[in-house]
Amino acid sequence: MASRRVTRKWEVFAGRNRFWCDGRLMTAPHPGVFALTLALICGTCALHFAFDCPFLAARVSAAVPAVGAALFALTLSALLRTALSDPGIIPRAAAAEAAALEAGEAAPGGRPPPRAREVLVRGRAVKLKYCFTCKMFRPPRASHCSLCDNCVDRFDHHCPWVGNCVGKRNYRYFYTFVVSLSFLAVFVFACAVTHLALLARGAGLAAALRATPASAVAAAVCFLSVWSVLGLAGFHTYLASTDQTTNEDIKGSFSTRRGVSNPNPYSRGNACANCWHVLCGPLAPSLIDRRGVFTIDVKDELPASFVRVLSAPPAPAAAAPAPAPWPGAGSYSNLFEGGSPARHAYMNRSLDLDPVPLATSPPPRRAPPPAALSASRLRLLHDTTMIDAALDLDEPEPPPHLPPLAPVHAPRALSAL
Ligand SMILES: [Zn+2]
Ligand SMILES: [Zn+2]
Repeated sequence: MASRRVTRKWEVFAGRNRFWCDGRLMTAPHPGVFALTLALICGTCALHFAFDCPFLAARVSAAVPAVGAALFALTLSALLRTALSDPGIIPRAAAAEAAALEAGEAAPGGRPPPRAREVLVRGRAVKLKYCFTCKMFRPPRASHCSLCDNCVDRFDHHCPWVGNCVGKRNYRYFYTFVVSLSFLAVFVFACAVTHLALLARGAGLAAALRATPASAVAAAVCFLSVWSVLGLAGFHTYLASTDQTTNEDIKGSFSTRRGVSNPNPYSRGNACANCWHVLCGPLAPSLIDRRGVFTIDVKDELPASFVRVLSAPPAPAAAAPAPAPWPGAGSYSNLFEGGSPARHAYMNRSLDLDPVPLATSPPPRRAPPPAALSASRLRLLHDTTMIDAALDLDEPEPPPHLPPLAPVHAPRALSAL
């Protein structure tokens, strides 16, 4: 039998990322600035180790090269881990999956299907936006990177300096990189200045600069870069201690608006707990399986539960709205077959928001029918957005500030925010 070359999933990956070493490593599509970052760090440290370290080890302390080497190793390993790993890319929906979602979302009367949903996260309404590129509802905190052309979980920002998105899976390494780079820059600057100062004590500064111009270059590079690096380290320390992302901070997602406070539902209440969760919590597995074998049959790519939904006979049109009671009116157990109802409790009151501005929408908005939360559609949303993995929260409590049976949210107030 003729052997057939195996096609791996990274070779047919839909985004713009570039893969290296047969899919083991990945970067953003244009990693040129990342190469510049590497060259700057390695070049400056080479000057430090070649010219400052021998002099300072003899005149000051033998620990100087050891400290420099430790900081350099930590910085470089954190940079490479940030730049070459999966930042938390959420796979796009397969064609059949997207078609089923579109069909299930179609609104009556030929109107376009709603493009946003709401879920409750610890009692706070969080909007899930539909990604037209990835054909799915983004999990909370995810965003689509236009450069990499992927949705990234807990998207922080796209960083050209590290040549990758910064997201749920590599934020801790990015933070380690920024903090260790701050220490490294300060250390190399201090060593270069000390070297120059010791030489200048007898012969003057001009003679010292002529004797070791490499130290002057290293000091200049560190002096010019250390301020922005220190500022970045402070900013990300603030973000980690409040469990926010750069994206959320820039958008003011949790800032007070019109006198109404909007606390961060992801915060664990104190800075230590937030830092521990963000920087030391369990690392989420990669969802893109880039070294897996690609198969043509799309159903092979889908979870078994989703295949069951796809292959189930279509329900009669009249039967859809009737049977499922509005969740909250009773138990969720009727919505799931064999699964734990509590797992999906945060999807209580999921709400289809009208994509047409309410003021100009000709037909009056109706309350979403109970069928919007049928078992198959909930499973569909779960499977397409992997919302369990994305939320990564403790089991939420029922919202304390909402009446238990309010059938509809207030979309006007929420959409006005
Ligand atoms: Zn997307
Ligand atoms: Zn990106």
